[in-house]
Amino acid sequence: AAMTVKPALHVLLAGPRGFCAGVDRAIKIVEESLKRFGPPVYVRHEIVHNKFVVQSLEAQGAIFVEELDEVPQDAPVVFSAHGVPKSVPAEAQRRNMVYLDATCPLVSKVHREAERHSAAGRHILLIGHKGHPEVIGTMGQLPPGSVTLVDNLAEAEAVVPPEGPLAYTTQTTLSLDDTAEIVATLTRRFPHLVGPAKESICYATTNRQGAVKAIAARAQMVVVVGAPNSSNSVRLREVAERAGCARAVMVQRGRELDLALVEGVGVLGITAGASAPEVLVDEVIDRLREVYDLTLEEVVVAEENVTFKLPAALAR
Ligand code: SF4
Repeated sequence: AAMTVKPALHVLLAGPRGFCAGVDRAIKIVEESLKRFGPPVYVRHEIVHNKFVVQSLEAQGAIFVEELDEVPQDAPVVFSAHGVPKSVPAEAQRRNMVYLDATCPLVSKVHREAERHSAAGRHILLIGHKGHPEVIGTMGQLPPGSVTLVDNLAEAEAVVPPEGPLAYTTQTTLSLDDTAEIVATLTRRFPHLVGPAKESICYATTNRQGAVKAIAARAQMVVVVGAPNSSNSVRLREVAERAGCARAVMVQRGRELDLALVEGVGVLGITAGASAPEVLVDEVIDRLREVYDLTLEEVVVAEENVTFKLPAALAR
């Protein structure tokens, strides 16, 4: 009998991809809280923007809600990695609740930076995506009217901030290229604009965008494992496309990958957003392996060794 020969497919794995230190810490905070307090532990907003992660934690006894008033007073509550407006911990304190803040330390750094600018009398232009929880959290560090959101290049051209000193800061998960353009526009319009001491876009965003560019340049198709509400994952798909890979798709699970799109592709790149666990990358590889004879190559553009400590309340 004739043997079925699978067609060959060369897979480029972006390095780094997937979990960042802030996501890793946020998930550990929920898991440690479950151990320490026992279920249920409430989590305000998706701890990180990934359904698989949320469902795994739900299976361990976490309950996800959108607002604090949905949490019973006697249950512990964790705030998500994206950060929260100051009113949220204030309300938890007022209600005498046990709360744990899983805000990524790199997001907290942006919060403190915004406070410093405001204390120095500067109005803040926040470059970020309208409605994203990180943007809501950062704006909520300061009294209303202290911050103006700039969502895109058109808004950078049009924004009319109040007279006087001006600073900008950004969401941590933006496109590096888009942000550079927006900052250039703002600096041209407002030459006295003060920037952050260090780039607010985080190391994980920077490295993942660099890695996806490297694989997109060599691949006919790029698969981004991530969620449509995950800012950094959505950016990865865009970056791949702009780096010249017209066929860039996002999937949440392996079974979502449309194999018809892979037909005729010889080199396929895979990456994953900062909130997507590696087991979901494995799902995509397994799905491809059903049909193709795979060769895997890891393309590493940066090594990462960042880790963040757990909050004092959970550290032993
Ligand atoms: Fe922190 Fe960056 Fe990860 Fe967001 S993407 S959790 S800012 S390390």
